[in-house]
Amino acid sequence: MLIEVILHSSFFIRPSLMNLDSLIRPNIRAMKPYASARDEFQGTAQVMLDANENSLGSVGPQAFNRYPDPLQRAVKAEVAKLKHVRPEQIFLGNGSDEAIDLLLRLTCVPGQDSIAILPPTYGMYEVAANLNDVAIERIPLTGDFQLSAEVINKVLASDAKVVFLCSPNNPTGNLLHQDAIEQILRGFRGIVVVDEAYVDFADAPSWTTRLDEFANLVVLQTFSKAWGMAGLRLGMAFASAELIGYLNKIKPPYNISEATQQHAFAGLRDAARFEQMRQELLTGRAWLQQQLPAVGIVEEVFPSDANFLLVRFRPDATAVYEYLLGKGIVVRNRTTQPGCAGCLRLTVGTPAENEQLLEALQQFA
Ligand SMILES: *Cc1c(COP(=O)(O)O)cnc(C)c1O
Repeated sequence: MLIEVILHSSFFIRPSLMNLDSLIRPNIRAMKPYASARDEFQGTAQVMLDANENSLGSVGPQAFNRYPDPLQRAVKAEVAKLKHVRPEQIFLGNGSDEAIDLLLRLTCVPGQDSIAILPPTYGMYEVAANLNDVAIERIPLTGDFQLSAEVINKVLASDAKVVFLCSPNNPTGNLLHQDAIEQILRGFRGIVVVDEAYVDFADAPSWTTRLDEFANLVVLQTFSKAWGMAGLRLGMAFASAELIGYLNKIKPPYNISEATQQHAFAGLRDAARFEQMRQELLTGRAWLQQQLPAVGIVEEVFPSDANFLLVRFRPDATAVYEYLLGKGIVVRNRTTQPGCAGCLRLTVGTPAENEQLLEALQQFA
């Protein structure tokens, strides 16, 4: 019993051995964040004359004359309930893309530090690195888009400040093996970002369930995919309260608009609609997975845990892409991505859209 307690506690003490402060840029550790009017005064008062707002109201049909909550407390309380995390473990960004950018700026000194990415993967990691003058170390996934022992060893040997693991991966659709991610979390010296934009379509638990074990873990999720709110621009980052505190320190004070906070709050309370759409998209994915292999020009349909399918076409995927465009159907041409020669990425649509896509492909074949 005593041994069990000791083992158990040492297990939880281990992650705190990683010194988060040593990964934060010195200028950010030293800086004082902007203190907004709404940071200094929270709550409701009779007379609000602290923020140079327009007390008369707004133009247009809805009142948005007050600055929004900088820390989005109401939305985070709902997210915390849903994801079984504490509000202090949640950061909300103007899309996950803002969280990606802030994580880079938090840790990487421009012109000096690097991030690691595992191609083929989401394009924004590279764009954010280029924007911030941060070097990119590319460690390609295996031919079946996985983390082999060799890939893991390269990540563990890296001096990068952040490694981005996208699971389910975009554009390939597959989950990365859980034990491989765990090895990286235990051995990598920087921050490990697991981008779970598509986790709601996956047959696996979220890494948010492991947050308390790994001080270097950041999990990204978004309202843009399964929640159907891409137009709002709202992304989530989950991490230790300490790391979230740093993200809050450097974010633009009012990064999430009042309109977005209101819509997200309402959406989070509509779990039934979320689940209904999720099931419909999963059904659509299964239908396309079943139908596509019989189409003559389809060489391979890769397994997917996301709301899209990576499909290899023969003999000429770009010709298929152009043909679909001519029919008014836009898909994503991924033929130039490493390991994705001949591949298009097809998003699962409505049942009617899926049928239209399949019919067009059958006609081409
Ligand atoms: C779509 C997507 C996102 C979402 O980005 P937002 O800025 O939240 O819309 C993040 N990561 C990956 C891998 C994606 O495919």
